[in-house]
Amino acid sequence: MDHINPSLMRLISFMGYDTIEDHSSGCHIYDTSGNDFLDCLGGFGVFTIGHSHPKVINAVKAQLDKMPLSSKVLMVEPYALLAKKLADISPGSLQYVFMCNSGTEAIEGALKIARLKTKKHGLIYTKHGFHGKTMGSLSITGRDAFQEPFRPLIPGARMIPFGDADALAEAIDDDTAAFVVEPVQGEGGIHVPPDDYLPKVQEICRDKKILLITDEVQSGLGRTGKLFACDHWGIEPDIMTLAKALGGGVLPVGAILGTPDVWEIFEENPLIHSSTFGGNPLACTAALAAIEVIIEENLPDKAAETGKYILNELKAIRDEHPDVIADVRGIGCFIGVEFADSDVGGIMISSLAARKVLVAFTLNNQKVLRIEPALGISRDDVDKLLGYIRESVAEVSSLISSL
Ligand code: PLP
Repeated sequence: MDHINPSLMRLISFMGYDTIEDHSSGCHIYDTSGNDFLDCLGGFGVFTIGHSHPKVINAVKAQLDKMPLSSKVLMVEPYALLAKKLADISPGSLQYVFMCNSGTEAIEGALKIARLKTKKHGLIYTKHGFHGKTMGSLSITGRDAFQEPFRPLIPGARMIPFGDADALAEAIDDDTAAFVVEPVQGEGGIHVPPDDYLPKVQEICRDKKILLITDEVQSGLGRTGKLFACDHWGIEPDIMTLAKALGGGVLPVGAILGTPDVWEIFEENPLIHSSTFGGNPLACTAALAAIEVIIEENLPDKAAETGKYILNELKAIRDEHPDVIADVRGIGCFIGVEFADSDVGGIMISSLAARKVLVAFTLNNQKVLRIEPALGISRDDVDKLLGYIRESVAEVSSLISSL
């Protein structure tokens, strides 16, 4: 209250989360009083492999003893191994990797690379899309409440509806460098596009010679039931951004992946884009271990299976209580519950907080509660979560009918 952000503290207290976290494991966070919170928010997409995964913690501990930060002059083995691993698992001909420290940094770098490669300035982005809050990323984050106080933003950014390929074709002009899109919109309220959208988008980008940047900061690394959301539709972006789950829920890591064609921009000046801490040995070690866990534990398949179960159960709850829940949608363990209105959503969050379930709204759509648990969440915890949601919905429904 006195030194961080009083208004945010009041909001968090109002929601019912006014406690101090102490330690965590798997899908559970324990506060300093010993309360056990079931984490269904997953750090907004960070805790894909769960909290404090021992494989990542142990790898990071070993690297910590060996060499925590890089000289930035000599080669760094974990960076090289991670770049190769990412190139091996990523879609299409993505081959080169620039490591940074967060999602918004990955987007900033991607925008600069796109401008340099195409020698053009224009960017097209989607309504309700979320790419971060630094100036470049904010310029393509489709929510007025975040953009308005900071205008003028970077020039030449145009917003179009998500899911509408014709709108993209119309918006492209002679100065367009790139189209930036989340394959599945997260903070916009968990929107899965129609099946023909992304293949059409790719065709338009290739026809009109603009770059396709897919932002998989939240959808990447198994969350949607495949390693990358792009893989559901077989598209091959020119640039892809990653962060959140990449650090295995242990360290902050971001990455920009690009094709050899795009990476030509580094030929003339290899230091045209750089980062002091990006690609440090600790972060890369965490990311390598996290990718191994995702593959070894078969987490994309688990996400698909668990997500299907949760989605079906939530749809049944929606059918029983349309006064509380307007829609349920998602893919894998990337699920949104849209409430009848935002007041109902607010009461639902408090009601779930009272049951020690950790949840939150999507940032660009305050009517949608996100369900983003660790992909390996047990059936027991899933059933507990669904039970709590059922109880809360019934409670809110009777409150509504008593008004
Ligand atoms: N891109 C997407 C799709 C995101 O969901 C987010 C954060 O929610 C970002 C970028 C920004 O990431 P960060 O908060 O690490 O800067």
